[in-house]
Amino acid sequence: MKLWDQYYTPSTIQEAAALLSQYAGRARVIAGGTDLLVDLRAEGGHPHEALVDITRIPDLNRIETDADEIIIGAGVTHTQIVKSALLAQRATCLVESCGVVGGPQVRNVATLGGNVAHALPAADGTTSLVALDAAADVFLAGESRRLPLSDLFIGPGQSRLDSTRDLLLTVRFKGTTAREATAFKRIMRPQGVALPILGCAVWVRLDESGTTFEATRISIAPIGPRPGRADEVEAMLTGKPADEKMIHAAAAFAQQVLHPRASKYRATADYRREMIGVLLRRTLTLAVDRARTGTAIPEGVGL
Ligand SMILES: Cc1cc2nc3c(=O)[nH]c(=O)nc-3n(C[C@H](O)[C@H](O)[C@H](O)COP(=O)(O)OP(=O)(O)OC[C@H]3O[C@@H](n4cnc5c(N)ncnc54)[C@H](O)[C@@H]3O)c2cc1C
Repeated sequence: MKLWDQYYTPSTIQEAAALLSQYAGRARVIAGGTDLLVDLRAEGGHPHEALVDITRIPDLNRIETDADEIIIGAGVTHTQIVKSALLAQRATCLVESCGVVGGPQVRNVATLGGNVAHALPAADGTTSLVALDAAADVFLAGESRRLPLSDLFIGPGQSRLDSTRDLLLTVRFKGTTAREATAFKRIMRPQGVALPILGCAVWVRLDESGTTFEATRISIAPIGPRPGRADEVEAMLTGKPADEKMIHAAAAFAQQVLHPRASKYRATADYRREMIGVLLRRTLTLAVDRARTGTAIPEGVGL
């Protein structure tokens, strides 16, 4: 089955944007291709006139720091993220989530940008980026813009980015500093290599004494049709003791206020709701421990 006519490997963002403009909606962006090729095969029918591969653009293949922000190019692979010492220390949840995507073959080619652009509510890398309160630099409707990452998502598999015309360029967020930490955990079928039953990423900041939640950000997925934060649970934790009793209370509260989606292939909504408590308790406990000790060694990460 022929899936495309022309395959381009531009070396600059400008070149990629010019190709998309030239094809006026008849070309499609490709990164690692791990989602796209599955979709193209499933769609069958007419081949795309062109694919524009963004993985040979050096500007999109970097992990950098700028002032207090960490910037990750859309072409950076999950394996590059897992190997980054900077991210292990200052965005531990992202390393943990990218470290469980698929298997090594998938992680070696699949990109964080593709994970975001595909807009699935359970995507592991996206879950952590939401907890990190990330923003996205995009080339959207012919203009360069910076948006909160959450603004990109419209519904399951539906992004504001039209990947026949627009480009996700980078994601950026503040790395953790003193008294802050993150963690990610997920529940998965044994030996499963696709989207999780449930994923959870948290960011916490403790007060000077290390005993109270000054602020939290919690992303549990999939809950609704778009990736998002558990605002009510975050509000409940603010200013409260960062101890076992409070973490248990937050887990129980989350089970009451969050109403997860059912999935034909992965889990019922009831099972997911039950697991929200387990997952949030474990993830929050780990993040608090990291914030207190200042030590963060990513867990469960495969190379
Ligand atoms: C066996 C297997 C296991 C998997 N396991 C997991 C898992 O455990 N967790 C998980 O979250 N995902 C999983 N995935 C899904 C997938 O690997 C990830 O979502 C991956 O990050 C997608 O990145 P990619 O570079 O391959 O994207 P691609 O397939 O290249 O692109 C995906 C979509 O995004 C668009 N796109 C890509 N980059 C850009 C850009 N820069 N600008 C605009 N549009 C863009 C493409 O046009 C396409 O629509 C799995 C996939 C497979 C095949």
